[in-house]
Amino acid sequence: MKLRKVTAAASVALALAVTATACGSDNKHDSGSSGGNKIKVGIKFDQPGLGLKEPSGSFSGFDVDVATYVAKQLGYKPDQIEFVETKSADRENALARGDVKFIAATYSITDERKQKVDFAGPYLLAHQDLLVKSNSDISKATDLNGKKLCSVTGSTSAQNIHDTIAPKANLREYSGYSECIAGLQSGAVDAVTTDDSILAGFAAQDKYKNQFKLAGLKLSNENYGIGVKKGDATTVKKINYALAKMVSDGSWQKAVDKNFGPANYKNEPAPKTGVIVK
Ligand code: GLU
Repeated sequence: MKLRKVTAAASVALALAVTATACGSDNKHDSGSSGGNKIKVGIKFDQPGLGLKEPSGSFSGFDVDVATYVAKQLGYKPDQIEFVETKSADRENALARGDVKFIAATYSITDERKQKVDFAGPYLLAHQDLLVKSNSDISKATDLNGKKLCSVTGSTSAQNIHDTIAPKANLREYSGYSECIAGLQSGAVDAVTTDDSILAGFAAQDKYKNQFKLAGLKLSNENYGIGVKKGDATTVKKINYALAKMVSDGSWQKAVDKNFGPANYKNEPAPKTGVIVK
């Protein structure tokens, strides 16, 4: 894998030093989507281990924990956070409209998206993979030719399939991964493709135990960033500070163990702020 430094000034140490003074917990009156003493944060609602709305109405997952930590650094307690569902295809528009202050939703940093939104991070490196039934003989990308494959509209996963990974697959694009998983269980599709982090979370759910397997293919590098409105450099800077602190004080590892441990997902080490793995 090739490492590319986006900006030298974005390294963890410098992010901590430069922005330390700008990041106290007294800035509750952030404008826009934070709306006074509440902050609106975009997450996924249907991705176990990452962003999940529980039947009780509470939220769980790694993205939820990252978002909660970041919001705290911006001056908001957990009860001041309003989580809003931002599906893959809605994320750029939700930020442009000001529906949410930031998005932590398995949101890969890409050059295309950077035309429309700004990113802090990355805070996790995942890889595109395939999920199939336990008895499936699909084990590599070329096995997908002519097969029914499910992914989500507006995702890098769907784009990569069209562009390079399996242009000859019969790709169906749904609006969320939970719908793809239901399709895999019912036999409507032969495989689901997206980040291994997401697929591992579904595969580990009690209701799917022993039914599915991951192919274990690292088909892409997905550098998860926190999306903010284009031009909001102040928030990017504050969030980069928060993410670096989350790693250095051990909270990042704690969130990894809590959320990925049950799914037995072997994540990559914490990325460095500003360093994208191409
Ligand atoms: N990380 C990929 C993306 O940002 C796939 C997961 C998702 O759709 O959120 O598109």
